[in-house]
Amino acid sequence: CGIFGVIGVTDASNFVALGLHALQHRGQEAGGIVCHDPELGFNSARRFGYVRDNFTSADIMETLPGPLAIGHVRYSTAGSKAAVIRDVQPFFGEFSMGGAAIAHNGNITNALALRKELIERGSIFQSSSDSECIIHLMARSLQKDIPDRMEDALRRVEGAFSVVAMTRTKLIGVRDPLGVRPLVIGKVADGWVLSSETCALDIIGAEFVREVEPGEMVVISAAKGVESRRPFRPQPSKFCIFEHVYFSRPDSIIGGQSVYETRRRIGVELAREAPVDADLVCPVPDSGTPAAIGYSQESGIPYAMGIIRNQYMGRTFIEPTEQIRNMGVRLKLNVNRALIKGKRVILVDDSVVRGTTSRKIKEMILDAGAAEVHFRIASPPTAWPCFYGVDTPQREKLLAATMSEDEMREHLNVDSLRFISLDGLYRAAGEPEGRNNACPQYCDACFSGEYPVEPSDMVAKGFQL
Ligand code: 5GP
Ligand code: SF4
Ligand code: MG
Repeated sequence: CGIFGVIGVTDASNFVALGLHALQHRGQEAGGIVCHDPELGFNSARRFGYVRDNFTSADIMETLPGPLAIGHVRYSTAGSKAAVIRDVQPFFGEFSMGGAAIAHNGNITNALALRKELIERGSIFQSSSDSECIIHLMARSLQKDIPDRMEDALRRVEGAFSVVAMTRTKLIGVRDPLGVRPLVIGKVADGWVLSSETCALDIIGAEFVREVEPGEMVVISAAKGVESRRPFRPQPSKFCIFEHVYFSRPDSIIGGQSVYETRRRIGVELAREAPVDADLVCPVPDSGTPAAIGYSQESGIPYAMGIIRNQYMGRTFIEPTEQIRNMGVRLKLNVNRALIKGKRVILVDDSVVRGTTSRKIKEMILDAGAAEVHFRIASPPTAWPCFYGVDTPQREKLLAATMSEDEMREHLNVDSLRFISLDGLYRAAGEPEGRNNACPQYCDACFSGEYPVEPSDMVAKGFQL
C-alpha cells in the first residue's frame, strides 16, 4: 500500500491526491482521504479504483477541505480480497479527546490474535482489515492524548507497519522497530509531508528532509514542527529488500540510494554471475527494465525492446485474483515480432513467483520465432511467502518452493534460467560485503525463509517455518 499525509498547507487534500497518484504503483484497488478543517471538522472519501478517476474533480475535492489530510492507496494483502468499501483506509476513530485517522502500510502478523482478544473485550470491528486493530487498541488505552495512545497501541502490534495518522492538529508518522516498510518526511512551503516514497514528494514540489527511522514516531504540528519519539525497544533494522527489487518506484531514493541504480546494478551483478552468449537483452517491462539495462551494459550485448507493454494496464502482480492475473499477461505484454525473429534473447525480469507470467512470456517469444530464450531474474528464487505486506501466494503456489532451479528451467522450458544470488543482490543494494548471515542487513524472508518477526498468526494456523 501507499500512504501520504500533509499538514500546514491550504487544501491539503489536493496535495494528498497528487501524492497518492504518485504512489499508485503501491496499490490500485482503492484509495481514500481523510482531512480536517478547524471549522468543518473531519471529512473523508473512500473509493475503488485509481486516484486519477476519483480524486480529481472539484465535486469531490471541495468536500475535503482543510490544512491537514492523510490518504491511502490500497492493495489487499490481509483482509478480504473482495471489494468492500469498509476495508478501504484511512480508518477513523472518535476518542474522548477528539477524532483520529490512520493509514497503514504493511501487515500486522498478530492481527488475528489481537482481533479475537479485542472482540472478546467488546470492540466492534467494521472491516476485515488487520489495520483496524490499531484503532481499537487506541480506544482501549488510558493515555490522555492521541500520540500516547498510538504508542500504546503499536507496542502491542507485531510485524510490519509504516503508519501515517492525524488528529485535529497533528500529523503523525511511525515505522515499526525493524523499519520493514518505507516512510519519508518532506517539507513543502510552510507545511510538512509524510510519504511512503520520495517520488511522491517530487510531484508536489516538496523537498526531501529525511526518512522516518525504524522504530521512530514523528509528531508534526504547524506550531512545533517535527517532534521525534522512540516508542519501541531498538532492534537492528530489516528493510524489505524487495522494495529495491520491485515494489518501489525506480525514481525513488531509499536509504540514500537510487532505486533505479540499485536495479541497474542488479543487472550488472547478474551479467557477471550468469553470462550467456546471445544477440539481445530484453526486459520484461516495466519491472525488469533497469536490471536489463545493467545486464546489457556489463555484457556488451545490445539492449532492445523485445516485449512491448500496453501502458493502460496496471501491475499484474497487484491484481488480486489469479484469473485476472492469468489474462493480464496478454492484455499487458506483447512481443515485438520483427525484432525477435531468429534472435537469441536474454529476457530479464524482476522475479519468478508462480511462474505463470514467465511461462506465457516464453511461449509468446518462441511463437514470435526466437532462436533461444534465456531468463535472467533480478531476485533470488521466491521460495517463501511474505507476511509483511507484499502479496505473495501460499507456499505451495510458489514455483521455487517445490522445484530446484533446474526443475524450474525445465518447467518453463527455456534454454537457461538463472537467478541473482542473495549476496549479489545485497551488493547491488549497497552492501559491498554481501549479506551478513549472522544478522542480515535487510528482510529477505521470501528468498531465505528467515523471518525477522515470527508470523505468529500464520504459525498458529499451522504454517511451518
Ligand atoms: P510469475 O512468472 O511468477 O507469474 O510472475 C512474475 C512476474 O510478474 C514478474 O514480472 C513480477 O513483476 C510479476 N509478479 C506477478 N505476481 C507476482 C507476485 O505475487 N509477487 C511478485 N513479486 N511479483 C509478481
Ligand atoms: Fe520484503 Fe520479502 Fe521481507 Fe516481504 S518477505 S518484507 S517481500 S523481503
Ligand atoms: Mg513484472
